[in-house]
Amino acid sequence: MEQLYQKLPEALLPWYQKNARRLPWRADRQPYHVWVSEIMLQQTRVEAVKGYYERFLQAFPTVFALAHASEQQLLKCWEGLGYYNRARNLQKAARIVIDQYDGVFPQNYEQIIRLPGIGPYTAGAIASICFDQPKAAVDGNVLRVISRICAIHEPVDKPKIKQQITQRLEAVYPRQAGMFTQSLMELGALICTPDGQPKCGDCPAADFCRAKQLGIQTQLPKRMPKQPRRVEKLTVFILCCGDRLAICRREKHGLLAGLWQLPNLLGTQTDQQAIDTVRQWGLQPETLRKSIRRRHVFTHVEWEMIGFYIDCAVQTERFVWADAQQLEQAYPLPTAFRLFLESS
Ligand code: SF4
Repeated sequence: MEQLYQKLPEALLPWYQKNARRLPWRADRQPYHVWVSEIMLQQTRVEAVKGYYERFLQAFPTVFALAHASEQQLLKCWEGLGYYNRARNLQKAARIVIDQYDGVFPQNYEQIIRLPGIGPYTAGAIASICFDQPKAAVDGNVLRVISRICAIHEPVDKPKIKQQITQRLEAVYPRQAGMFTQSLMELGALICTPDGQPKCGDCPAADFCRAKQLGIQTQLPKRMPKQPRRVEKLTVFILCCGDRLAICRREKHGLLAGLWQLPNLLGTQTDQQAIDTVRQWGLQPETLRKSIRRRHVFTHVEWEMIGFYIDCAVQTERFVWADAQQLEQAYPLPTAFRLFLESS
């Protein structure tokens, strides 16, 4: 098994130098840039991240600007990317970098991994890409690549297996550590893909890949069984008064904590129940224009929503009443609720 790992640097580095994609965060190796991009890339596709990354750096070009941003400005910039705690942790970590490290990102892996929101993957990526330290960044892509090259039949998301892969990779890290980390990621993204059709004909590891030799590429990686998602039903109110919509702030804890939302209740209401609810809120409902159903999937929960579009005669203080410009520019409203604005 170790021999397979030893072949990786020699096979992957020249391939990466020829085939690496030009991505905005690869323009330099500044820790702030690599860090922001790696946090954004967790759970989000490269194509989707590009625009967010550029807008984020325009808004917060330095770790100082990020540390001093208001929460609302920060979350607005993150709107639509999901997993909003990633943004909050970025800011907490930026404040620590300023307070404890005079604004200079720490180079030591043990210091990096202690920053909020940074786990072994991100710490490994920053330490290797920015500082050429022999630290692996093992994510789903890398696990897939290694599980195929080494024909690992145990679930790769078992902590023991992930740790073994990490240690064996770190044992063969070359001097160009950053390039090696990125070559593994790139191989998983471009060639050894998860879609059931790895491009083995173009792969720099094809000569020694065990899965290819055995013809079992598409059977790997194996993973542990996932818990099914919980389904929650929600009634959402798109309450319109003049040119303004009612919004309110979510709880400080839990899913989408602290973000803004359209008023909503757990459970599915009928047309009449929805009208009665709005009346109880003191809004004098005039017309129920329409209702539509939408679905939004989070990691562990799925919302099945019905949205009622109701025109109201008065704006009460129970809600904030925002016009289209404010909704666009000021209030971070998660995608699950934006789904209803597109049809309003
Ligand atoms: S040869 Fe095929 S299965 Fe093996 S690493 Fe390359 S792309 Fe993946």
